[in-house]
Formats: sequence, structure tokens, C-alpha cells
Amino acid sequence: MAALREALGRADLDALLVTALPNIRYLTGFSGSSALLLVSALECVLFTDFRYEAQVADEVGDAATVRIEPTSLWAGLWPSVGGLAGVERIGFESAHLLHRDFARLLEQGSRWQWRPTSDLVEQLRAVKDAGEIGAIRRAVAMAEQALERTLAALRPGLTETAVAGMLEQHLREAGSEAFPFPSIVASGPRSALPHARAGSRSLELGDFVLLDFGAVADGYCSDITRTVVLGSASADQRAVYEIVREANVRASGAVRVGMRGMAADAVARDYIAACGYGDAFGHSLGHGIGLEVHEAPRLARTIEAPLAAGMVVTIEPGIYRPGWGGVRIEDDVLLTDTGATLLTAYPRHLLEIA
Ligand code: ZN
Ligand code: ZN
Repeated sequence: MAALREALGRADLDALLVTALPNIRYLTGFSGSSALLLVSALECVLFTDFRYEAQVADEVGDAATVRIEPTSLWAGLWPSVGGLAGVERIGFESAHLLHRDFARLLEQGSRWQWRPTSDLVEQLRAVKDAGEIGAIRRAVAMAEQALERTLAALRPGLTETAVAGMLEQHLREAGSEAFPFPSIVASGPRSALPHARAGSRSLELGDFVLLDFGAVADGYCSDITRTVVLGSASADQRAVYEIVREANVRASGAVRVGMRGMAADAVARDYIAACGYGDAFGHSLGHGIGLEVHEAPRLARTIEAPLAAGMVVTIEPGIYRPGWGGVRIEDDVLLTDTGATLLTAYPRHLLEIA
């Protein structure tokens, strides 16, 4: 909250209206699905509704003044803003405000100046503290435990959705509060679809099976991908797999504090290109994880911002050959001043599931 107030000062704002729920959770601890947060130099007021009366008291404590609004959160906002002395210029989150609600600012809030902002809270979220890193570590451990149990049960004839169901049951049994995204299980030629959903295809011997999934612990996500072969790998599969594995090892070994996102991306991309698969790695190398599964920073070709200590990022190179199959290996890495620490411990070598 102190860092946000400094950022507001630099942006010449008297207050910020926070409408993104993950940002509200980050600042106050409140995890409900209905909230507005108003932050000024001295005040922090959280608006929610009666469904959350007990939860909000439990989660927020004295991190904010809580107002339970009986009709509309917005109806409660105006008298509160009016009660803040010296507040004229108020930022809103341009990426997280519906046009309908923007119209409210102009109509009902016309006595204040509303200024668009972007990423004020997201930039703070990119750097994790010890408690957040602990939660991510727990989410990684849950995901690895679920992966172990799922791979042990993998066999020909199971559909992708059945495998996803097993994976998600194991995630739940490991303690995961939720799924950061619908678990991806893509087999055979479908493993060439980088964001496949689990479908009705049945696993066959000789398939690549790509599993991309995560767990959630205390609100914080992990995000892991492993690609295995059901039965014995062909020489072709082994060759492609080894390129992706080497790209992952090189990038997770090279990524460090002070490196630009584009430079980290290039470590994996240049290696894959040198192996002749430059066109087959069409997405970015990685992204931050935290309260959301995709958050700042990004490791991508266009990102000039340097990485900082406390960031937790994925390293996920891939090669996708349409009609044949694909391989992605995704790990989670913590950046510290003394080097990068791999949070994921699951083996990266090619697993052939007998
Ligand atoms: Zn993933
Ligand atoms: Zn990812």
C-alpha cells in the first residue's frame, strides 16, 4: 500500500479506484468476487456486498475500511469519495473497467477528474515477497504430486478429458483450492496445438501426451507443462524433445536479475532456430505467475524491461509441428540477487510411459 501511494504521487493522482479483483486481493487480502477499492493518501475503503460480510472481516482485518453496500457498490462509492478531503484527480484502471462503469464515473462522478492508469498495481505484484513465494512453492509441490499420480495411471484408450479429470482430482487431493486454468491434456497430433483443451481423443501407443496445468495455494498459482510419450518414443520424437529440453535448460540457466525479457526469450528462441525449428516456436518464452496465472513480467521478443529480484516466471519453450505433434516443457523459476532458482523439480528428461 505504501508503494502504491508512492506510485500515485509520481502519477500526480490523489487517489486510485481499483476495480481488478486480483489487485484488490493483493492490496487488502479480500478474495471475494464483488468489490471496489478506493485508495487515497490516507484512506483505503473497500466496498463489497452482504454475501461477504463475514469473509471480508476475516480476510481484510484493518488493511482497509470495509463498507457493506446493500444495493450497489457504486451507490456507496460516491459519498465516500465526497468525504475525502483534497481529492480531485482520481485514477481508474483502464484495463479493468467496463464501459458501463466508466460512464458512471463521467455521470455520477462528474465533480472529480478521472485519469486512466495502467499496471500501477500489477507492477507491484510482479515482485513477490517471502509469503507469496512460499505459496507459489506449495502450489508447485501440489502440481508435481498430481502429475506423478496422473502419469502412473496413463494408458492407451483413456480420453484426454478422462486424463484431465484424473489430473484435476489429484490436484484437489493435493490441496489445490482451484485450477488456474482448464487443464490442458493434448495427445498425438493435438499436442501441436499450443493452447489445446482436453478433448474426446483417446490416447494411443506412440503418442506424445502434453499436460499443462497448475495448482492454487493461498490464491497463488503454479503453471507446469510436461510432455511424455505413451510407449516408446520414435527417433523423430526424441530429437524434437531434446531440442526443447535443451532450450528449457539453457533459458532457465541463463535467466537472471537485470536481464531484459527479450534477452531471456532469445536464449531459447535462438537455440530452437539454430536447430531448424524457428518457425515452430510461435509463442513467448514465459510469463510471471502469482495471483493470476499470466501476469507481469513477460519474457517475450518485444519486452525491454529488465527482470528484478523476487519475480517468479515460467520458462516454457515449445516446438509444434502441425499434424505430427508438439513438445512443451514448462518450469517455474524464482529470480533472486544471487541467481535463479528452479521451483519445479520434476524431471525434464523424456519419460516413456510403459
Ligand atoms: Zn502452462
Ligand atoms: Zn505458462
